[in-house]
Amino acid sequence: MSIELIAPGTPASVRFSFEVFPARTSAAALALGYAVQHLAAAGPEFISVTYGASGSTRDASLDLLKYLRQYTDVVPMAHLTTVGMTPDEVRAVVAETLEADIFDFLALRGDPPRGLREGDAEVAGSLSSVDLIRLITEVRAESTRAPAGGRIAVAVYPNGHPLSRSRSEDIDWLVAKQEAGAKLGITQLFFHADEYLSFAEEAREAGLHIPLLPGMMPVTTLGQLRKVAELAGRPAPRELERGLEAAGGTSPDLGVAHTVELARKLLAGGAPSIHLYTFNRHEQVTAVLRELGHVTPHPLAPPTAAPVDQSRPAKA
Ligand code: FAD
Repeated sequence: MSIELIAPGTPASVRFSFEVFPARTSAAALALGYAVQHLAAAGPEFISVTYGASGSTRDASLDLLKYLRQYTDVVPMAHLTTVGMTPDEVRAVVAETLEADIFDFLALRGDPPRGLREGDAEVAGSLSSVDLIRLITEVRAESTRAPAGGRIAVAVYPNGHPLSRSRSEDIDWLVAKQEAGAKLGITQLFFHADEYLSFAEEAREAGLHIPLLPGMMPVTTLGQLRKVAELAGRPAPRELERGLEAAGGTSPDLGVAHTVELARKLLAGGAPSIHLYTFNRHEQVTAVLRELGHVTPHPLAPPTAAPVDQSRPAKA
């Protein structure tokens, strides 16, 4: 698929944001620094950083947020979860995050950590996302650093959260998050535009007015596709699954094409912006944006294959 060229400097036509997660090894951290520079150069509205269950990535998440703050001009957004933490511990993490000049949060309850289930006391007794929104608002009001502009985002489930029994229960809960102070919603992954569009329409009818950013991920492998299907709570599209199988299990192009088609339908249907789960890679998500007509304002050069010998004069 080709797109018409847009002159450099033309304002971006698509609004978008990215999600990344902290690296688990030093090598992955180096690769992530490189990817993040490319992601930042694309001009997202923010880059959000995930938070491991029970605070397992607390330091690594904060380090990555600080890197974004210090070495890019992108707004960093901190995911924060409450499972396995006391209110005082959560309060301390919020304060520490504000101290690092990170003012935007994605307020989440979090999934049960490995070995625990929804009904277990440690999970059921955790602060909910609504409690967390209130707590962040309180800590922010006490902080001398936080500007008035920091936003609180929340999770949205177009295909329903496993704990809710109906769509209307999900929507009521989302409206409660809005009433507590949420300023935007970011959706769980899904495969079909109608899942988002019909949810958004019903939520508007129930009084929701905050923007809902559809979350999407250009999958590269069959393994990723199955993981997305699990999160979406719906089977993966057969055509995409078959295509990946035929390609030996890996095909970046198929995932990009599916995401581009989905994004076009969502934007045409009124989605305000798109939120791209990057899987810590920049190639696929920037390919999606290019296909949607976005021009990266200041593209970075690809890495050179070999170090440049500075002692030799450059060829004319
Ligand atoms: P809550 O909003 O507290 O509640 C979950 C659901 O429970 C509600 O949707 C509702 O159906 C039901 N519910 C709870 N209380 C009530 C009530 N009083 N009345 C009615 N219904 C109720 N997890 C991580 O561990 N780290 C991450 O970084 C992370 N990032 C995420 C990013 C996005 C965009 C999304 C969509 C999810 C993310 N998650 C992450 C997963 C999330 O933590 C889980 O889905 C978790 O199970 C629910 O979190 P929540 O904030 O939606 O919970």
